[in-house]
Amino acid sequence: ASGYTLLRDPHHNKGLAFSEKERDAHYIRGLLPPSILTQELQEKKVMQNLRSYDVPLHRYVAMMDLQERNERLFFKLLIDNVEELLPIVYTPVVGEACQKYGNVFRRPQGLFISLKEKGRILEVLKNWPEKNIQVIVVTDGERILGLGDLGCQGMGIPVGKLSLYTALGGVRPSACLPITLDVGTNNQKLLDNEFYIGLRQKRARGQEYYDFLHEFMCAVKQNYGEKILIQFEDFANHSAFELLAKYRTTHLVFNDDIQGTAVVVLAGVVSALKLVGGTLADHTFLFLGAGEAGTGIAELIALEISKKTNTPVEETRKKIWLVDSKGLVVSSRVESLQHFKQPWAHDHEPVKELLDAVKAIKPTVLIGTSGVGKTFTKEVIEAMASFNKKPVILALSNPTSQSECTAEEAYTWSEGRAIFASGSPFDPVEYNGKVFVPGQSNNAYIFPGLGLGLIMSGTIRVHEDMLLAASEALAAQVTEENYEKGLIFPPFTSIRNISAQIAANVAAKSYELGLATHLPRPRNLIKFAESCMYSPIYRNYL
Ligand code: NAP
Ligand code: MN
Repeated sequence: ASGYTLLRDPHHNKGLAFSEKERDAHYIRGLLPPSILTQELQEKKVMQNLRSYDVPLHRYVAMMDLQERNERLFFKLLIDNVEELLPIVYTPVVGEACQKYGNVFRRPQGLFISLKEKGRILEVLKNWPEKNIQVIVVTDGERILGLGDLGCQGMGIPVGKLSLYTALGGVRPSACLPITLDVGTNNQKLLDNEFYIGLRQKRARGQEYYDFLHEFMCAVKQNYGEKILIQFEDFANHSAFELLAKYRTTHLVFNDDIQGTAVVVLAGVVSALKLVGGTLADHTFLFLGAGEAGTGIAELIALEISKKTNTPVEETRKKIWLVDSKGLVVSSRVESLQHFKQPWAHDHEPVKELLDAVKAIKPTVLIGTSGVGKTFTKEVIEAMASFNKKPVILALSNPTSQSECTAEEAYTWSEGRAIFASGSPFDPVEYNGKVFVPGQSNNAYIFPGLGLGLIMSGTIRVHEDMLLAASEALAAQVTEENYEKGLIFPPFTSIRNISAQIAANVAAKSYELGLATHLPRPRNLIKFAESCMYSPIYRNYL
């Protein structure tokens, strides 16, 4: 390739870092100014530039430009500055980017498959330049973060998630494929926007929708084989549960909103119990919100208790209660409940308000997954603190404005006794002279490591025991030092190490279950995971 092409290829470009010898060998001389900058200096320069932008969206656009210009530098930045950059390439800023995607749109990222391509999806997959794909993140854009239907503009989410697969989990960028399925949108604002990038029609539903998804799922397997990992992301709950149930026996599928959330939160609860005492089976759980996150977490907790105590899951579900928009989920409502809520309809008189449910159920663990902010009121937290020495309170709704309560409220209203974590980040809080550090229950702890574990072992199906294995590995990473500050999740700075531990534990389970096809089984799975991880350091082209 000519030097000119090399400089314009983001997979190979390294800007001013090309050495004298490389400049000669690849006909680059004269195409670059004479100075040579190391990757470290380039990183320092780009970080300075990024920090000079006050508007978060501008930082996002700058990061996307960098990814398109110089992929290795992009990932080096992301890996070395994970706590600072995660909120830019992922939630919350990516949400704003999706909302304005049509306006900030420059060059397409990922693959767009719309109803126009019905009957030709396999052909479209073949247009993608990379052939050895290991993981697809796919959305239909119907429930982007807590922002609702963003149609085709949901593409920011698969792109962002996959950059975390690489930065945090070490999956090669060329093996990652972001896909948006455009089946229309019911977001009138987008339909009316002259810059909207998607199909201008209402969402396809029912048979038409499921036929389209089925063609997609079949084409993916036909093109990439048995071991391709498909992560469903930000589908609305009416389709998310159904797609997962339908494809889990024929494809390697994973839904991050249901399963990823459940794995992270289970790890958080298990590590919280080190501070509170007792086993999972000793505790009573109450959820506000009975959707993808709430019922997904509830089911994994029930499963873990079932495995640990050798009790049928029908029994272990009984100490887990959920509240939805109509009140406590109880047996008298069962006829009118959506499928995924029915297992949680226990015998109890109807209760409308959360506060009354808290008083009636007396949970030891309260988990918010409703997407509605300010719902853990002073009265609710005080009630939790009145019958628990150390109430566990998880306010998981995102973004920050939707959090059920703030860290400060949880600590203050419980007189410093709450064990608190949230979905969106909160700063440390000082209460009565003691500093409390709230943990963030972020799915980015799990899916990159889980994905790496599945990929490196050539796993062909996700088994629930692999989810439990991932959760156990994460909980084991919380140190005494973390606990002393009230932290129930480990710090993000060691995420690559955490991902390797998760990957190894997941792969071990997969080999045990006979679902791994990468044979023979590597003896040391942690070392193997580390050796599989992508490095963003520039290569020498001589
Ligand atoms: P979802 O499937 O739409 O479920 C939302 C649930 O909340 C539904 O059961 C809904 O009730 C209920 N609800 C809505 N308004 C309510 C109200 N005023 N009072 C009581 N219940 C109410 O959404 P999801 O995917 O589960 O996500 C929910 C939230 O969790 C989002 O904010 C998301 O950002 C957050 N989340 C956080 C993490 C994390 O921290 N790692 C991970 C995933 C999701 P009906 O069923 O009656 O409509
Ligand atoms: Mn999601």
